[in-house]
This record gives sequence, structure tokens and C-alpha cells, in this order.
Amino acid sequence: MSVQPVLELKEVYRIYRQGDQEVHALDGLSLRLEAGDFAAVAGPSGSGKTTLLNVAAGLDRPDRGSVVLDGREVTRLSRSERARLRLEKVGFIFQSFNLVPVLSARENAEFVLLLRGMDAAERRRRVDEVLREVGLEGLEHRRPSELSGGQQQRVAVARAIVGRPALVLADEPTANLDTDTALALLGLMEQLNQAHGTTFLFSTHDPRVMERAGRLIRLVDGRLESDRRAVHS
Ligand code: ADP
Ligand code: MG
Repeated sequence: MSVQPVLELKEVYRIYRQGDQEVHALDGLSLRLEAGDFAAVAGPSGSGKTTLLNVAAGLDRPDRGSVVLDGREVTRLSRSERARLRLEKVGFIFQSFNLVPVLSARENAEFVLLLRGMDAAERRRRVDEVLREVGLEGLEHRRPSELSGGQQQRVAVARAIVGRPALVLADEPTANLDTDTALALLGLMEQLNQAHGTTFLFSTHDPRVMERAGRLIRLVDGRLESDRRAVHS
């Protein structure tokens, strides 16, 4: 018996039409992500990385094909059902952090739990634990503008994992960080993957980030070029 994958895409097409031009952002892509994968998606600009992550999160709908997230066929869900599934099962980290500017680090991480209806004491416990885990202890009350880029991305990581999602998706999470900060952020993601078995799928341009991935998926023109697991000795 094979274990149910966290995410499975089968023959997924996403076609954008501009005038009489068609762009196949995803061109019959199939992909299985197993629980505990730490997978990078690489590929040139325009190869479909962002589209893949958006489709996986149910933020965007494919034109054809199947997307199964944690056992549910995302393409058959309504907009509100997809939002609910995202809230419960997915954490998303953006290239440009996308924090709410008027909220503190703590509040940015906490609102996911508020939306889920968790009570205040449990929320506080969870958020404290996660902020400590991502290395933001002592900075809980700062707003995004009072934090460095690396610290802001740590808040975004805290927000993504605070609800213990089945899958964390990250769209070029290190692209706006300098090299040392980028590698530290990747180290944090790696640590969370190992400590909790959280499945990660993140896109990147950076060869140093690709090197650290447990699995490297390469896209070209919306198709899978290669998919390799790292062999660690
Ligand atoms: P990547 O993240 O790898 O750079 P994207 O998924 O953003 O690639 O884009 C894949 C292709 O789809 C590109 O050719 C891009 O121009 C096109 N595309 C993406 N989003 C849209 C859109 N909203 N409208 C039209 N074309 C789009
Ligand atoms: Mg992109």
C-alpha cells in the first residue's frame, strides 16, 4: 500500500490567453509530493513556477487536469471551500513577505489562528512557540517596517507554519534577501521540515538554495524537465 501523497497534480494545464496569443504556463504537468518532502522548483523566468504554486494552493484554477491536496480534489471545490482548505492545510510564503504593515510580528502570525476560531489562550501558546522557533523572540511587538528583510521573512515563515499545515508553499522566498540571510532562512525551513516533518515546496532561482533541497524539480515551458532526489551520504 502506498502512502497518500500530500499533493498530486495530474496532467495539469493552465493556459493564459492574450489576444490571439496562448501561453501554456502549465503544459500537462504531473507531480507527486510525499509527506516530508523538502522540494525546490527551479526553472527560468516564465517557466511556470508561480503558476504551479498558485494552482497547488487553490489560488488559481487549472484549465484542465487534477489537483489533489491532502486527499481532496481542489478543482471541484467552490471558491469558499478552497479558501477553507487553504486555511487549514496550506501555509504560503511570498517573495515580498506580504505582511500586514499595521500589525506586529505576533499579530501577523496570530491572525491565521484567529480565522480558524482558536481560543485566545491556545493562540498565545502556539504563537509564542512558533516565534521562538523562527528566532524572533524579543521582536514580537515590532511592525514589519521595524524589522529587517530576513526578520520579516521569518515572520512570514511563522505565519505559514503556525497552523501546522500539511504543506508549505513558498514562491522564491529568498529572492529579496542577501546571500547569508537567504541561506539562514533556508536553514530555518530545513530545520522545520526535519523537526515536524512539514512538507515544503519552494521555487528558487538560486543555485545555492537548489543545492540544499532534498528534491529538485526543474520546469521548462510549464513541463517537467527533471525531478531528482538528493542522495545524502
Ligand atoms: P515563473 O514563476 O516561473 O517566472 P509564471 O508562472 O509566473 O512563471 O509564468 C508562466 C508563464 O505564464 C509566463 O509566460 C507568464 O508570462 C505567463 N503568465 C503568468 N501569469 C499570467 C497572467 N495573469 N496573464 C497572462 N500570462 C500570464
Ligand atoms: Mg514566479
